Amino acid sequence: MRIKLHGTRGAYPTSSKETRKLGGNTSCIEIIEDNERLILDAGTGILEIDFDSYSTANRIDILLTHLHMDHIQGLGFFKPIFDPNKEIHIWGPGGSSYPLKDRLNKFLSPPLFPVMLRDIPSKLVIHELPNEPFKLGKFLITSKFVCHPGPTVGYRIQVGSKSVAYIPDHEPVLNKAHLFKEDKWISGFDLSHNADLLIHDSQFNREEYEKKVGWGHCTMEIAAELSKRAKAKRLVMFHHDPAHTDKYRSEMFTNFMTAHTFDFPIELAVQGHEIEI
Ligand SMILES: [Zn+2]
Ligand SMILES: [Zn+2]
Repeated sequence: MRIKLHGTRGAYPTSSKETRKLGGNTSCIEIIEDNERLILDAGTGILEIDFDSYSTANRIDILLTHLHMDHIQGLGFFKPIFDPNKEIHIWGPGGSSYPLKDRLNKFLSPPLFPVMLRDIPSKLVIHELPNEPFKLGKFLITSKFVCHPGPTVGYRIQVGSKSVAYIPDHEPVLNKAHLFKEDKWISGFDLSHNADLLIHDSQFNREEYEKKVGWGHCTMEIAAELSKRAKAKRLVMFHHDPAHTDKYRSEMFTNFMTAHTFDFPIELAVQGHEIEI
């Protein structure tokens, strides 16, 4: 399985040269197995995908974690959505008083977007995620609700014995230095358990977090603790704050790694990187 990081930034995209190294695009990753692909989230990172190279031609599956702008703002602009020969399946969380389609329609309609959802030229199919694991081609997909404002899921994608967990926006405990003692109460634990790769929110350091409790994001410490508790084999720290320059974020990361020891690799998510598991 190959995982391409097309957008690693949270909240809003940046174009500054000071954020170029880690990347300015908002959340989007692509998971590839042979000639099959899944797209997770549709932030501006989706605009980096070379859709012309898609060999599975007419069907594209996009799995959304939630509908905050940084996870959907590329949706109205990626090339295949204007191609009448394409069938685009968008999957996302139900669990709200409004159906997923109505919530998406709020963004993909005037005055926020010039075209109504129903007038988009491609064939758009919108699915609320089932409560059970389901298969799309070779991919076994599990989604579970995680702690973040509004209906939000994390994903676990498995092919054979390999698995990747993707939880880009997550605050598993509110204003606590550590996770709950019992694994079964930890948001995101099942998704991350024994994953070969965990791509996880880690937007803040402790000082920043104290001013942003309840915003739905977590510290590097909590991300690493979840990874350790769940025995994930590798952690990629994701959802960089757009106010953090590459220099600041790298220093934050170095300080964190100097103060702790882990027996699994941890790295910062870098836009454009590809990870093989
Ligand atoms: Zn986000
Ligand atoms: Zn969010």
